[in-house]
Amino acid sequence: MAELIPAPFPHLLRRMLREAEREQKIFDLPARRFWRGSEDLDTSVTIHGHRAANPAGPAAGPHGQMAQNILLCWLAGARFIELKTVQANDRLAIPRPCIDMETVGYNVEWSQELRLAESLREYVKGSMLIDVARATGLLGRPDDPCRDDTILDLSVGYDLAGVRSAAVRSWIASMKDAGEEVEALRREIPDDLGRLRDLSFRTALSDQVTLSTFHGCPADEIEAMALFLMQEIGLDVTVKLNPTLLGKGAVDALLHDTLGYRDVETRAEDFEKDLQWEQALEMADRLSERARALGRELRLKLSNTLVVRNHRRLFPPGEAVMYLSGPPLHVITLHLVERFRRARPEVPLSFSAGVDNRNFADCVALGLAPVTVCTDLLKPGGYSRLPKYLENLEERMRGLGVRTIGDYVAAAALDPAAAVARATADPRYRAGSLRPPRKIGRRLALFDCINCDKCVPVCPNGANFVYEVEPTLIEYVDYRVEGGEAVPVAGRQLVVRERHQIGTFQDFCNDCGNCDTFCPEDGGPYLEKPRFFGSLAAWRRQAHRDGLFVSKRDGAELVWGRLGGVSYRLEVDRDADQAVFTDECVTLELRHRERTPVGASVAPDTPDGHTLDVGVFLKLAVLLDGVLDPRRVNPVNV
Ligand code: SF4
Ligand code: SF4
Repeated sequence: MAELIPAPFPHLLRRMLREAEREQKIFDLPARRFWRGSEDLDTSVTIHGHRAANPAGPAAGPHGQMAQNILLCWLAGARFIELKTVQANDRLAIPRPCIDMETVGYNVEWSQELRLAESLREYVKGSMLIDVARATGLLGRPDDPCRDDTILDLSVGYDLAGVRSAAVRSWIASMKDAGEEVEALRREIPDDLGRLRDLSFRTALSDQVTLSTFHGCPADEIEAMALFLMQEIGLDVTVKLNPTLLGKGAVDALLHDTLGYRDVETRAEDFEKDLQWEQALEMADRLSERARALGRELRLKLSNTLVVRNHRRLFPPGEAVMYLSGPPLHVITLHLVERFRRARPEVPLSFSAGVDNRNFADCVALGLAPVTVCTDLLKPGGYSRLPKYLENLEERMRGLGVRTIGDYVAAAALDPAAAVARATADPRYRAGSLRPPRKIGRRLALFDCINCDKCVPVCPNGANFVYEVEPTLIEYVDYRVEGGEAVPVAGRQLVVRERHQIGTFQDFCNDCGNCDTFCPEDGGPYLEKPRFFGSLAAWRRQAHRDGLFVSKRDGAELVWGRLGGVSYRLEVDRDADQAVFTDECVTLELRHRERTPVGASVAPDTPDGHTLDVGVFLKLAVLLDGVLDPRRVNPVNV
């Protein structure tokens, strides 16, 4: 399994500031897609007593996992950021690929893939990056609480023992008061960015949590967890409920008969074991009362994903179930909202299910807040899809002549039953409206592709990036060992046609598979394009993967490369125009600019017939020149 490796804080800071200055983008999100808010409107909402400048944000999932993801959400407009769920068991083995966005939206991913200590640091880094973006005016306007106030929402799971564990308690305490972590990261700010050390970074990161439970978690355990978090830990709590609450008959009728998802199969046991309708109402009553007595607020979140049988081919066949999101879940969850509203109109609800730019304003008009999203942000455009949600909301507010969200909800006067009926009848939520991404029947290779760049924004972690090379057509010879000498043999050719190339920063890639789904070519960018590791240790640890680690030492550029499972090393001294390339058996000296060999030597005991693939040298040299070009900022040259 690929391991996510957080980037050092100085790298993240340098990258965001350099990219903003040189290329008017941050982590590949163009500045023109940043959400800047409108001075004439107040889109803020209050959640658990805190103000968020708007109700939009990522649901706990892949967009709230790494520090750069958190910043990207914020730049695109998220002001309620649900951080990815943490749990006591922080050593999960997650099947890969884990995201299937071909049509509906399924996943088998789970909670935070980082260790608890790493996720704490990552979330604090994310918060500090937001503070830097605010303070340095990276949005292109002065810091403004009306448009920038942001809630970070914790998400913990999944059972009572885990939530009560010392590890999770201590983790929550460190998120409530992250002063120590902030100071440690402040000390890491390098001298060239020393001006940032004096910033007043936020330390009270969060005092609210969304509780996530196992599918099938008993009702009394859910309640006990919520009570524990409220009473013992002192948090405001949102309890996330499952769409199974609607009942198998109703869910199946909607899925199969109304929406046409006849291939999607639910399992009776998942409905039987999950929280039942009456239990949910009683639990909401008791928890609301307890919250009031404690001076806190209880919210419910509708809904979690829907557990269904794994009937598709993307996930490993050993996975019996997968989790459905996207368009069908939107309709199912709206039905749940309407039913809940009738039963308990006073309970505040947050919403997450198939949200996109066309239904976000309706969700807000229903008084739902926050309204969070995951599936839609995994589609082409990625984070840059979010600003349109808010622009559409702002347009609706202006159309109704209102300034605040409260007035918008009142003026829109959207009847939940009417909203449900409209969505249920809307063809865009039906099976027939979903088309898989187009494939063109061509296979990816290390260099060159149709350069659609879809793989860059669809990666939630910002792992894929663009770099540029000099197009090349070069003849070369390999060197074969004969009688202890390296002898040139049989000419070959390397052709790199395009200037524009794609690479993957391996430390940020968890093999989720999403870029493969949307790439028009076959093979998967994360598998076929060059992978750059962030450290030599990571390159060595993941010896089963081809890839490179690039570093600089004493004026020389060093590349540790693995191609076709064989390890190579390249050292380039640009001032002297010298390159040394070796597979540890044969070492070749070359003039770097012209790529011409000037000498070869053979290590003792190298058997006759061993051949040094000079094509690898050429590939590494092209890659090195490309990724180290300072004109385009990327995770390697930062
Ligand atoms: S790797 Fe695929 S998705 Fe990425 S730019 Fe090339 S063709 Fe497009
Ligand atoms: S590079 Fe592709 S497979 Fe890797 S994390 Fe990004 S989207 Fe997922």
